[in-house]
Amino acid sequence: MYKIATIGSHSALQIFKGAHDEGFKTIAICKKGSEKPYKMFNSADEIISLKSYKDFPKIQDKLIKENAIVIPHGSFVTYMGYEEVEKLKVDYYGNKKILKWESDRYLERQWLRNAGLKVPTLFKQPKDIDKPVIVKFMGAEGGKGYFLAKDEKDFNKKIKPYKLRKYILQEYIIGVPLFIHYFYSSLTNEIEIMGCDIRYESNVDSLGRISARDQLVFPKIDPSYVIVGNIPVVVRESFLPRLIDMGEKVVKASQKLAPPGLFGPFCLETVLTPEEEIFVFEISARIVAGTNPYVEGSPYTALKYNKPMSTGRRIAIELKNAIKGKKLGKVLG
Ligand code: ATP
Repeated sequence: MYKIATIGSHSALQIFKGAHDEGFKTIAICKKGSEKPYKMFNSADEIISLKSYKDFPKIQDKLIKENAIVIPHGSFVTYMGYEEVEKLKVDYYGNKKILKWESDRYLERQWLRNAGLKVPTLFKQPKDIDKPVIVKFMGAEGGKGYFLAKDEKDFNKKIKPYKLRKYILQEYIIGVPLFIHYFYSSLTNEIEIMGCDIRYESNVDSLGRISARDQLVFPKIDPSYVIVGNIPVVVRESFLPRLIDMGEKVVKASQKLAPPGLFGPFCLETVLTPEEEIFVFEISARIVAGTNPYVEGSPYTALKYNKPMSTGRRIAIELKNAIKGKKLGKVLG
């Protein structure tokens, strides 16, 4: 019997609940001190505690012996680094070759452009900045330290504390940031929209609670984008055809870049402008934490399924179907 394993963080509670719903036993790999939620919510049938996530490869043989299938999530890839993930021998859900394409901001951009999606302009050098930019550091860190700059002078002033870090200068798009969760089945070749969310970020989302006059009371108030949580959102129905189309295009483009391409859960991170343009500023090629409000399913999964369907449960169903149909090779990377 196969077991479902992942690192205890990010969307692990949802992944384990979905696994249990489909009859799998679960293994949580936790950093010492972070085990409590997985006990409190009866998530983990077994907990393996590590001093550091970097020790993950050391417990691989144990996982292999237990017939574990590892489900990657955001923290999994961030904590281990995609090169380490690529080297794993334990069964792994998803295409590992795609991780390189989402981990590098330039490759990611190439992928999105190949798919024909609209992306924000990227400025090569600070002197090129001719409209407001968001300055992002390399590696997903939940928006820590990102800042806005209006021109080269403003940039040079604000970059000082981060002098040694690698960054990109991306056009700042004014609109509503919308995160769209998809699932693409490599067994049926079908795409599904699982849900959408809006993130709540500190401090940018609290600035609107202070009037412009009162904001001036604070000598240095720069917006930051540290994620605090996710809020469910249902999009205007007339956007749906475009969103589905975008998901299909991204999958298709990935099949050329890293065969057999992207499958399983993924997310397009977008900004929707008042002109109804949709700019994609990032893609996550695995389950995102924005699916967490939908442990019991989203309005979209309610339309498609006659039972509560989270992304975690959808993954478990995919694995179950692959095992039953002797097609595990099609879902393991
Ligand atoms: P993660 O990998 O967890 O998604 P990250 O560190 O890669 O995080 P981004 O998602 O790229 O960070 O950006 C953080 C936040 O900054 C977004 O949620 C969004 O609010 C805002 N943002 C990012 N890019 C843009 C943009 N081009 N225009 C407007 N807002 C943006």
